[in-house]
Amino acid sequence: MLNRLFGYFSHDIGIDLGTANTLVYVKGKGIVINEPSVVALNIKTKQILAIGEEAKKMVGRTPANIVASRPLVDGVVSDFEVTEIMLKYFIDKVHKESFVLFPRPRVVVGIPSGVTEVEKRAVEDAAKNAGAREAYLVEEPMAAAIGARLPIQEAAGTMVVDIGGGTTEVAVISLGGVVSARSIRIAGDELNEDIIQYARDEFNLLLGERTAEDIKIAIGSAYPLEKKLEAIMRGRDLVTGLPKAIPVDSDQIRQALAKSVNILIDAIKITIEETPPELVADIMEQGMFLAGGGALLKGLDQLITLTTKMAVHIANDPLTCVVRGTGLILEDLDSLRGVLVPTNYNAPR
Ligand code: ADP
Ligand code: MG
Repeated sequence: MLNRLFGYFSHDIGIDLGTANTLVYVKGKGIVINEPSVVALNIKTKQILAIGEEAKKMVGRTPANIVASRPLVDGVVSDFEVTEIMLKYFIDKVHKESFVLFPRPRVVVGIPSGVTEVEKRAVEDAAKNAGAREAYLVEEPMAAAIGARLPIQEAAGTMVVDIGGGTTEVAVISLGGVVSARSIRIAGDELNEDIIQYARDEFNLLLGERTAEDIKIAIGSAYPLEKKLEAIMRGRDLVTGLPKAIPVDSDQIRQALAKSVNILIDAIKITIEETPPELVADIMEQGMFLAGGGALLKGLDQLITLTTKMAVHIANDPLTCVVRGTGLILEDLDSLRGVLVPTNYNAPR
């Protein structure tokens, strides 16, 4: 009863704590925050200078004593201090706006499925320290499937591939649980790296990370495009040290990305191989679903179809699937409690 009253007044929060972007959903309001998971801090004083959008602008532009760090990418525990600060900043930003007398929010956080027990504990503690009344964790592919409104509770196989910045998560879900899964550290960031490497090897051109990402989004592809696209890579000549601009086309960039894209496809194939045949039959019927920003790489769906012989669908608005999933869990915590990651706070007692 008290809980129901609390639920009515409190601004329960769903968070997609992604390696590239953090999104926050507030019950009854929708998505209120969508910012890069970046924190700029002074490494000597440990002072936080900026978080989110503002911090991302500093990437590659900081003096020696300042780092713009992405605390979730490297997965080292020391970075979890920074994760906590970032999480607290985003929760505060939302909670402050609500009436002070409102009870503290319940928080559902989507986390990569590859994280360790220590890391789970750290995220949970971070949410609690940041003011959550109750903190729940859900694995990203599960949240993505819920966000895409796939029938995860049914006795049928549902396959989701969530391609983020730092990790790609492949999962087959049935009866509200993950049946087979794989998490690899090849995703959007690695594709950016491939483009940087390509420019260096072929043209002695040093590209910045953001430039490489822009090129990837503009002309990157996994499968030959109907019409070839072109772009200009701007960077620094490694020989002369001077600025240099080199034109490239989508065929060249596709070759640069091919190795990583193939690793990603292998992860999908291996997950299918490890899935019980009845569920594979279901997936063949329904097709698999792509979520996360990497799902938008041109022609990736086509290449996966070609190599796995399965239909591939790109989830609606793939970048917001996970956070919308956490929102749906908040709306219906009673029937979706089973999909949460068991933790100290919410484990069945
Ligand atoms: P995470 O969940 O790890 O925070 P996101 O799901 O937010 O990651 O996806 C971020 C990744 O998606 C980045 O690597 C970004 O470059 C990539 N991305 C975004 N849009 C596109 C696009 N149109 N084409 C290819 N990659 C994209
Ligand atoms: Mg994600």
